[in-house]
Amino acid sequence: MTDAPLPIEEVQAVETAWTTGIVIEKAQPTDDLVQLRVHVQDRIRHRPGQHYLIRLRAPDDYTAQRSYSVASDDDDPLVEFLVERLPDGEVSSHLYDVVEVGDELEVRGPIGRWFTWDTTTPAVVLVGGTGVVPAVAMLRTARRLGRTDLLRVVAVGRSPDHLPYRAELAKAGASLAYTRVSADTRAAGAPTADEVRPLLEGVELAYVCGSARFASYAETLLVDCGMPVEGIRVERFGPTG
Ligand SMILES: Cc1cc2nc3c(=O)[nH]c(=O)nc-3n(C[C@H](O)[C@H](O)[C@H](O)COP(=O)(O)OP(=O)(O)OC[C@H]3O[C@@H](n4cnc5c(N)ncnc54)[C@H](O)[C@@H]3O)c2cc1C
Repeated sequence: MTDAPLPIEEVQAVETAWTTGIVIEKAQPTDDLVQLRVHVQDRIRHRPGQHYLIRLRAPDDYTAQRSYSVASDDDDPLVEFLVERLPDGEVSSHLYDVVEVGDELEVRGPIGRWFTWDTTTPAVVLVGGTGVVPAVAMLRTARRLGRTDLLRVVAVGRSPDHLPYRAELAKAGASLAYTRVSADTRAAGAPTADEVRPLLEGVELAYVCGSARFASYAETLLVDCGMPVEGIRVERFGPTG
């Protein structure tokens, strides 16, 4: 991490360049999720919601690069990624199956201005599956600043096993919704307008992140609940190419 006394709100955007990330920690919390904690050389401070590019290079110089959101807060000495291994996914399978602690990755970041939380604006965050990753960064930052009251996070997964960071999200006050199984007093199903509408009071922005299908459901739901469309920021984790 760089030594920078300025609060993150005052850090100016700078051009990013490819650099080296060394994998310091690797965990596989489920059969299809890999968590990598990476030391990034010449690291630039990031805002919650930003992502990095990770580029793989084969011996014949073929390259493949994909975007991965940062889960960690800016004060974490390592940059944390949480990647879902997709069936036949080129980069995600490599990160899950092949990459080991000590390996070097080519990385570039942080990237993204639109989908970042400024740490002061009250916001609703509606995320699904691995789309929870930027919400985790936002909550970790809010916790450091003592402002978790500013964020109302709704995290959606098929079941508890399909919701990354489930325990941490719950502890931070997020509402958890499972589409395929009932839990506690909540019946299985996607979040409803009745659940989301009360969260919008006093909120100026909404962040939506997940698959294309989830994102379009969530955006429509927010509009139906009265959120102005210009206040909704969407990030889609779609298949590549
Ligand atoms: C800003 C941003 C942030 C992101 N953050 C994250 C994150 O934090 N965590 C995360 O897990 N993902 C994230 N993603 C998604 C990520 O960038 C990759 O898209 C994802 O990991 C898949 O890449 P891959 O190389 O493994 O799969 P790819 O090789 O690109 O394939 C993806 C899937 O599509 C299928 N597929 C590919 N091509 C075709 C085709 N032509 N026809 C039919 N099917 C096809 C494959 O079988 C596979 O199942 C993010 C995306 C964006 C844009």
